[in-house]
Amino acid sequence: MAITRRELIATMVKAGVPAAVTVSVGAEALHAENIPVPNAAVGLLYDASICIGCKACVAACAEANATPPDTRGDGLHQAPSDLNDLTRNIIKLYKPEDGSASSFAKRQCMHCLDPACAAGCPFEALHKDPESGIVSWTAEECIGCRYCTITCPYHVPRFQWQGFNPRVTKCELCSHRLAQGLRPGCTSVCPTGAVIFGPRTALLLEAKRRIKNNPGRYYQERVYGETDNGGTQALYLSRVPFEKLGLPELGPESVPARTLRWQRRFYQYFALPALFYAGLVQVIRKRLKGHEQEAHEREKQTGLRAQL
Ligand code: SF4
Ligand code: SF4
Ligand code: SF4
Repeated sequence: MAITRRELIATMVKAGVPAAVTVSVGAEALHAENIPVPNAAVGLLYDASICIGCKACVAACAEANATPPDTRGDGLHQAPSDLNDLTRNIIKLYKPEDGSASSFAKRQCMHCLDPACAAGCPFEALHKDPESGIVSWTAEECIGCRYCTITCPYHVPRFQWQGFNPRVTKCELCSHRLAQGLRPGCTSVCPTGAVIFGPRTALLLEAKRRIKNNPGRYYQERVYGETDNGGTQALYLSRVPFEKLGLPELGPESVPARTLRWQRRFYQYFALPALFYAGLVQVIRKRLKGHEQEAHEREKQTGLRAQL
């Protein structure tokens, strides 16, 4: 049975194998691993151009996930400034000082096709469902290393900082509601249809329909997440550059694939000095052997022996 890159790295980390060796073998394993694309991938389509910033989706998300209202800002209103340990979904405002086009921006987990959070987690506490593609977190597997908060290119997973066994908070596409035949909380209240839920293929078709029917409306006439970062299951349309919404231009290669490509390159270069070192060791061993033989011959000639 073929072992996956994740299985291999996790096993080696658990066994206490040094990080450099682990990464080296992980890079080799990636070469052979085909990243599966979920066959029933579901997701969100957020069209920033029709979002009115009402934040009904923020409240609905908190209610759907039974998280207490985050009133830590002014102690009165539920107005978190960013994703945090109580907030899986946030609406932000991009408003440039030069008076050019502004935009609201919804931020939640992107449910990447090749999630860096899951690839980096040594204990598979974050994992991608092979059917729906939803990326979830399992408390029992998590050791609280917070590595996922560093590897995610969208800065999505947030940790509680208090408590002995802190929780990771991130959007899990309301999978508990989907299991009951309900839509995700955020998509069930949006008054303008700025955020909708569905199969990823249907959402892509809808996004392209909107682009076609509204020439000149959307930035670069493209859907963020169709190919970005290897593809994501949260898709975006925008009037303003995606980076202004907090979505970095990552290119079509996923972050885990790119990171491990560099690791492969590093070890290719590392292989040359290693070969040189191996050759050097051989030369030294031959010389030592020669010296030993010479000494042995000399001892025979002088009659010198080790004292017994
Ligand atoms: S956006 Fe971040 S947390 Fe969400 S799946 Fe991608 S890497 Fe993981
Ligand atoms: S899908 Fe659910 S958890 Fe994710 S942002 Fe929407 S309401 Fe929140
Ligand atoms: S509910 Fe819809 S319109 Fe209101 S802030 Fe959320 S995405 Fe925007």
